[in-house]
Amino acid sequence: MSRYAALKEEAWKANCALPGTGLVLHTFGNVSAIDRNEGAVAIKPSGVPYAGLRIEDIVVVDLENKLLEGSLKPSSDVKTHLLLYRTFPKIGGIVHTHSRYATAWAQAIRPIPVFGTTHADFCPGEIPCTKVIADAAIRRDYEEETGKQITSAFRSRSYEETPMVLVACHGPFAWGKSAEEALYHAVMLEEIAHIALLTLQVNPRTPRLKKTLLQKHFQRKHGPDAYYGQMQAGTKGGKQ
Ligand SMILES: [Zn+2]
Repeated sequence: MSRYAALKEEAWKANCALPGTGLVLHTFGNVSAIDRNEGAVAIKPSGVPYAGLRIEDIVVVDLENKLLEGSLKPSSDVKTHLLLYRTFPKIGGIVHTHSRYATAWAQAIRPIPVFGTTHADFCPGEIPCTKVIADAAIRRDYEEETGKQITSAFRSRSYEETPMVLVACHGPFAWGKSAEEALYHAVMLEEIAHIALLTLQVNPRTPRLKKTLLQKHFQRKHGPDAYYGQMQAGTKGGKQ
């Protein structure tokens, strides 16, 4: 029995759930999960269709991308995932997709403004978009530098409060305490991106959500006195 069996199963389940969310086509996208005690990250293998993905196909690496278990090559985005795990110590899972609406905002190099309470339920401000990666960074180590683009966007905001980002010209990443929660956030990011675009189509001059409403919605789900749903106070990621 593999010492990473539970971790691999968590990553496998979340990867298998990804196509059903409508966020990915073909082999696009990847989910990873981390076991902080083992210093091990389980991730989808590169280029394997979701339909035939088996638990034993899941690749396990350490935080420096040394292979711990598996016979396939890890996702080509593995170094981005590893940099995020090293920099954001409380995340347990990461999802990367090229989901349609979030990718449209990323390609437009636009953060998603807060227009309504659906967004405010998940993030206390705009969903950030990274800077466009520099040529030197592309040449150096593209995937690791993509991770740095993401962490730079969080220098003045909390990665726990805003568990999602747009990578400029590329697409979205989302994370959470587990791979399952990361997937939930990836789905919400796509929904928020879609609604924001429709909002601007209805009225290109839609004002930003006012601060009092924004704070009310974010705090009632995530603040110290959170009272939304059946979850305990202070927990994040409650279901609708
Ligand atoms: Zn990508």
